[in-house]
Amino acid sequence: MPIPLQKLFTYKITEAEADFIEIGTRVAVPFGKSKIYTAIVFEKHQEEPTAYEAKDIYQILDEFPLVTQSQLQQWEWIASYYMCSLGDVLRASLPKAFLLESETLVLKRVDFDQEETLNDEEYMIWEALEQEARLKIHDISKILDKKGVLSVINGLLAKDAIEVKEEIFEQYKPKYVKYVDLTSRYQLEEELHQLLDGLGRAPKQREIMLNFFQLKQGTKEPVLLKELKEKSQASSGVIKSLVDKGIFEIIEVREDRVSFQTESRPIHELNDWQSDALGKIREVFKEKEVCLLHGVTSSGKTEIYTHLIADALKKGKQVLYLLPEIALTTHIISRLQLFFGESISVFHSRYSVDERVEVWNNLLNNSEKAQIVLGARSSVLLPFSNLGLIIVDEEHESSFKQFEPAPRYHARDTAILLGKIHGANVVLGSATPSIETFYNAQQGKYGYVRLDRRYGDVLLPEIELVDIKEKHRKKRMKGHFSDRLLALMEEALSEKEQIILFQNRRGYSPVVECSTCGVAPQCPNCDVSLTYHKFNNELKCHYCGYQQGLPRTCPACENPTLDTKGFGTEQIELELQELFPDSNIARMDLDTTRGKYSYQKLLRSFHERDIDILVGTQMLTKGLDFKNVTLVGVLNADNLLNFPDFRAHERTYQLMVQVSGRAGRDQKRGKVAIQSFNPYHQILQQVTTHDYKGMYEDQMNERHQFSYPPLVRLIRITLKHKDLIKVDAAANWMGKSLSNSFGDQILGPTSPSIGRIRNKYLKTILIKLPANKSLNAPKQLISTIKDSFMAISEFRSVQVIIDVDCY
Ligand code: ADP
Ligand code: ZN
Repeated sequence: MPIPLQKLFTYKITEAEADFIEIGTRVAVPFGKSKIYTAIVFEKHQEEPTAYEAKDIYQILDEFPLVTQSQLQQWEWIASYYMCSLGDVLRASLPKAFLLESETLVLKRVDFDQEETLNDEEYMIWEALEQEARLKIHDISKILDKKGVLSVINGLLAKDAIEVKEEIFEQYKPKYVKYVDLTSRYQLEEELHQLLDGLGRAPKQREIMLNFFQLKQGTKEPVLLKELKEKSQASSGVIKSLVDKGIFEIIEVREDRVSFQTESRPIHELNDWQSDALGKIREVFKEKEVCLLHGVTSSGKTEIYTHLIADALKKGKQVLYLLPEIALTTHIISRLQLFFGESISVFHSRYSVDERVEVWNNLLNNSEKAQIVLGARSSVLLPFSNLGLIIVDEEHESSFKQFEPAPRYHARDTAILLGKIHGANVVLGSATPSIETFYNAQQGKYGYVRLDRRYGDVLLPEIELVDIKEKHRKKRMKGHFSDRLLALMEEALSEKEQIILFQNRRGYSPVVECSTCGVAPQCPNCDVSLTYHKFNNELKCHYCGYQQGLPRTCPACENPTLDTKGFGTEQIELELQELFPDSNIARMDLDTTRGKYSYQKLLRSFHERDIDILVGTQMLTKGLDFKNVTLVGVLNADNLLNFPDFRAHERTYQLMVQVSGRAGRDQKRGKVAIQSFNPYHQILQQVTTHDYKGMYEDQMNERHQFSYPPLVRLIRITLKHKDLIKVDAAANWMGKSLSNSFGDQILGPTSPSIGRIRNKYLKTILIKLPANKSLNAPKQLISTIKDSFMAISEFRSVQVIIDVDCY
């Protein structure tokens, strides 16, 4: 059931139903007092439940399973590994359209006329039904502003004022596309000539006919209505008149939304280094399931993937290609489409539910279109039937981990399990592997293949550290730009080359502070300072979305001395406009890329060189491949390094190397300038020398010393409640119980660095477990403790979140 309950539920079916129902099909079942849910059949058995009486199912919704056996196996693993319910996994996996919505509808009885017998609440509902013909239960809750409204509805029912209906909506509507063709009467040449002659006096219709024949060009296929309309600039009216005359007929064809019209081209031949790496990967797969491909940026990892994909397709196997973020990697998609055209399906969280349903069905049917599935995190949950290869591109990316809501799974690790279930090979690719993956490769758990050369023997960019403490002292800064970075920028611009600038914060400045009293305006719902956005003169919370106008005076001391501190992408963009008035400048961050196609538009204009300088956040680092970028500037590396997290250094290394990798991907060697107050920091030194191994060893030493993954396993328990005292008491109880079982493996409870988000206070407890022992027993213990916790009535309203591998 799509609900966060740990249990499976048993329902009664008849013998006839038992013959018909297959595991993995959907059934509508009653639950609780009035709800109907879409459930998935997990098991057929003969044991009657002891704790409750099994209800009858309501309806069988599918003739064939919608969920495969191997998916159910995967779901069980996810639920048990990440300590969530099967229902959580079900909800994350199935496109919404498959989960029928059950809504009780309340309708007015027209013959009711005894309004005076209604009490106040009943009357309010009755009145609302005058306006709206039907109300759903949750509408009624809203009108009465309370949760338990069943008694009110029962009252109205008893007085015969209303009736209720249970309705199930099937939300998925397939898309139909309209085509035009000649009716059979005019398929004959002779008739057609007569017709055309006859149309002499109707020039518009004649025009349409001529365009129709041009589009048709001898093929037997009908013509797309939309195309005909566009080509002949005709209104629907004119076409309709041709239909009315019996000349045209409109044909509606159900079509998959995800369709591409590209001719496929042969994949590229590999150079010697790449062939060598490919050969080694194939060797690895004779012995191991997983192989790490550690190839520097622009070495041609994607090209190697295409050869592996071709191998799999040749064997008639499906391929899953996981990317950190689909919207940011459209260039990879179009590259693959060039090679594999019609056999690619893209699974995109920004797609409509319908489009996701298509991909799902195509996979279930193992159709031609779904031989290769490209997608982000959640595509690892799709119903593969015949999977042969999984590629996890940029495996180090943190967006593969889902933090909220459950299941809090890591798509890379889930992909490895998926590979096991299907006997499929898994390639993890990165220029900067995560520490845990590199560790696994070192341990021999994964195979390891390295690719050290960039394609075309382009050199790795030359990375230069700029000491901005020194520059400030010597007054060689203009705004946030050092004279050195400015000089490099001038040079690149004069050569008509493009520049990428990186700043990891969006907005104008992270903090607004009063220079008289030192108070910074805070979000009313979260324990964070508000970020200033200059273009609309607003203060915004990046955690809950709260916004307010910038006050003229300090809310605390009322002096007009609010001042900005720190800086974000928006401020850099404005400084650039002053420094380089003749250049085209654009910004890429969450604020400028909200629309469905806004990324693509930005990237296209950058590609077409309409933009000279692109400023942006993390988004810039994700595999952009632009030949004309020769300079990358990092405005400030320090706030990344100082982030309070055990992975901060690893992440800084990855980010710096990835963003540097955007420079000089063609013949000319790229340049990178990293500004920092602390240029002697070991990590920055390792970035400049591309010393991954050195970084890895340092980090492993630290993790050893302070017990962090991959040397231990981490489980984090977060408690949430709007009452601080309650969450404190709850956390103390939980901490104590856990300590009784786990001793000093428990850290906390503590308040996280942001102690309140969306008006809820947070407390966290960290459990560190040995990496070489099974997690089953400890997880069992944690579950038991959680159950006892939930049984304490005063804690029942406290939200408990368990996150396994919470990093
Ligand atoms: P990576 O994924 O390692 O960053 P890419 O696969 O994106 O590298 O390759 C970088 C660039 O070099 C791309 O534009 C790609 O088309 C080109 N390239 C790499 N290998 C080849 C090859 N064997 N033949 C043609 N072009 C290649
Ligand atoms: Zn907030």
